[in-house]
Amino acid sequence: MSILIYAESAEGKFKKVALELASYAKNVADKIGTTVTAITVNNSDNSELAKYGVTKVLKVSNDKLTTFNAKAYADVIKQAAEKESSKLVVLSASTDSLYLAPLVAISLNAGYASNVVALPESTSPFQVKRTAFSNKAFNITEITTDVKVIGIAKNSFGLAESAVTITEEDFAATLNDADFGVKVENIEKITGKVTIADAEIVVSAGRGMKGPENWGMIEELASVLGAATACSKPVSDIGWRPHSEHVGQTGKPVAANLYIAIGISGAIQHIAGINSSKVKVVINTDADAPFFKVADYGIVGDAFEVVPQLIEKLKAF
Ligand code: FAD
Repeated sequence: MSILIYAESAEGKFKKVALELASYAKNVADKIGTTVTAITVNNSDNSELAKYGVTKVLKVSNDKLTTFNAKAYADVIKQAAEKESSKLVVLSASTDSLYLAPLVAISLNAGYASNVVALPESTSPFQVKRTAFSNKAFNITEITTDVKVIGIAKNSFGLAESAVTITEEDFAATLNDADFGVKVENIEKITGKVTIADAEIVVSAGRGMKGPENWGMIEELASVLGAATACSKPVSDIGWRPHSEHVGQTGKPVAANLYIAIGISGAIQHIAGINSSKVKVVINTDADAPFFKVADYGIVGDAFEVVPQLIEKLKAF
């Protein structure tokens, strides 16, 4: 009856969200008197999970699962949950897990709560705190089904070390051929760029940058900070930047530790997508720009003067 987490990895390393999930699940497990089992896919070294409270790993190794396949992965997680008689399955808010969670919930006949931001308010009845309305409100949701699936919002629960002894078990899940109707032949990775989803720091810019030719300094600032670059909606609509960088209500959500907004006014639709970021820094010529109301730090100034100075200082740091 252990709590099951899906521990995501890439190139042999666990993603931070996997360790956050382990920390979260261990905390819940201690409260209800159980343990944490992790399922991993094609990851040989799982020892790091022991540091965050995982006592058992179900190792799935299968070439067919080299590329993410939502249906097949969901089926594997379902089988693992059944094997462990898990009443609680904990997933992250990564792009992959956002696909997986509803599929896993349906297959286990489980209730599903996404955007969970804290440890359960109560485990019996099972109630969790979630964000709603683009992070502008919270609600307490009760899951009444026997098996429960929850998705933990990014950056809502930090890492908590809790060393335990880990056992590993090969898990030969049954794969359904029908789930492999589409085959990914090749994935080309953009090297050296941090993606918005994985970024701890995001440097974002808007129409105040005047044109695409001025993005050199934004990219340089991002590179100095090891950050991802992002932009406001109009910037990607006009084609100054790719749509993959558009953040906000209708774009990608950002839950970074540091979000730097340069030449972005701070319209409600933009803020809705970034307000779960921890520290927000705004650079804008207009002291009345709405973004300053939600900023932790603000610089009223011209980006074309401020950003180069910032880069210079950071390089010297
Ligand atoms: P502007 O509003 O034009 O602001 C530019 C800012 O740059 C100004 O504050 C100005 O003072 C500042 N500036 C100018 N020059 C400089 C300089 N030299 N140095 C520093 N600052 C300077 N928008 C999103 O971003 N994401 C969304 O997901 C999104 N979804 C939407 C959904 C709907 C249904 C609708 C109606 C709108 C949506 N929008 C979204 C658009 C949103 O309402 C705003 O229009 C948009 O965010 C404004 O983009 P901006 O801040 O880059 O541009």
